[in-house]
Amino acid sequence: MINQNTLFVISSIALTLLFWWLWKRTTKAMLAYAHLASMVFTGFLLARTSYCTLGNQLLSICTWVIAKVLTIGIPVAVVFAIVLGYYLMPWLYKKKYSAFRIKDRRNRLVPEAKIFIADSSKAFAFAIKNDIFISIGLLVLLNKHEKDAVLLHELGHVRRNSSFINFTTNLMHVLSPLARFYTQKMLDFEELSADAFVVSVQKTDKHIESARKKLRNAF
Ligand SMILES: [Zn+2]
Repeated sequence: MINQNTLFVISSIALTLLFWWLWKRTTKAMLAYAHLASMVFTGFLLARTSYCTLGNQLLSICTWVIAKVLTIGIPVAVVFAIVLGYYLMPWLYKKKYSAFRIKDRRNRLVPEAKIFIADSSKAFAFAIKNDIFISIGLLVLLNKHEKDAVLLHELGHVRRNSSFINFTTNLMHVLSPLARFYTQKMLDFEELSADAFVVSVQKTDKHIESARKKLRNAF
């Protein structure tokens, strides 16, 4: 007869394969989170059962520690990492690049986001939460239409909350090696969606493509 632990491992692998299969047919980020939940849940159940089934006292202390790490330590670490990392990162970037905010009087230009200029001669732009960082190097490198395209691309990320998806996929890589099968697809999808937003406004992909080309050559 199959014992409980084997059953949990098998069901975990089966769930992972099921999520992967579903992932290839959809692009919903919820599946990725469900996958992560299934991995944590399995670890939780494994820890509980091994704690309960091992009778030897020395061994049960050992498994008690493992059980505690799995059931309390990892979830606490993940929540801590999300809260600290996700909320601290924008602040750290502002410090790192001595960024200053561009603001029109009623924040009418881009009401959903705050735009920061990063004091760096390197050309880059990125969005984290609803903060968009654009470097002085990028402003010098690109023409007006390309600057608009990059700003719209980053705004596309803000609207989709891409930085949260990026952050959680990185966490998933730590927790589950199998996550790599679909996280790259998730990240690619975020880039494509941000570009689609640019095209929906500019009615062409000419400017975002030429901006990308210039950025590639700049490095
Ligand atoms: Zn992007």
